[in-house]
Amino acid sequence: MSASPGGPPLALFDRDGVLIVDKPYQSDPDGIVWMPGAAAALRLARAAGFRIVVVTNQSAVARGLCSEADVQAFHRAMALTLEASGAHVDAWHYCPYHADAVIARYRIADHPDRKPNPGMILRALAQFGARAGASFLIGDRQSDLDAAARAGVPGFLYAGDQALDALVGAILAGRGSAELAKP
Ligand SMILES: [Mg+2]
Repeated sequence: MSASPGGPPLALFDRDGVLIVDKPYQSDPDGIVWMPGAAAALRLARAAGFRIVVVTNQSAVARGLCSEADVQAFHRAMALTLEASGAHVDAWHYCPYHADAVIARYRIADHPDRKPNPGMILRALAQFGARAGASFLIGDRQSDLDAAARAGVPGFLYAGDQALDALVGAILAGRGSAELAKP
């Protein structure tokens, strides 16, 4: 069920290392530590007309360290905290597959959804009828940026050295001037 292009652009966020502190294979919502300015970043992007999408590799599922239900519960817990501070995620996409999965049904090498492949991003763009070039992605790894590039989406590296809303503000400001520079 894809909308026609012409929908709102997407602000795509990696999860671990961008919205929350990256801890290896985390699945316990009690352990969530937010990155500075995460909720404010989502509010800022949405106020500027973007839909908010999370795209996250979760090979912990393939590795048998947690279930897809655990991942979904983790995201519900994140969403509750975000909603309490006026921030909203429009769609959550996760990839449970990995070449080294201990669970057979998740053992898929180079799955199209697993970043640096662009599957989750392409699906989100189709879901909202969003134009790739009008959207942006923030990630903390090269694989995030590679996935964005393969989907035609501008990608930005977040090193965690500033509040996330400061980076989003800079992206929106740069995008504004780029739009103005168009003939
Ligand atoms: Mg990450």
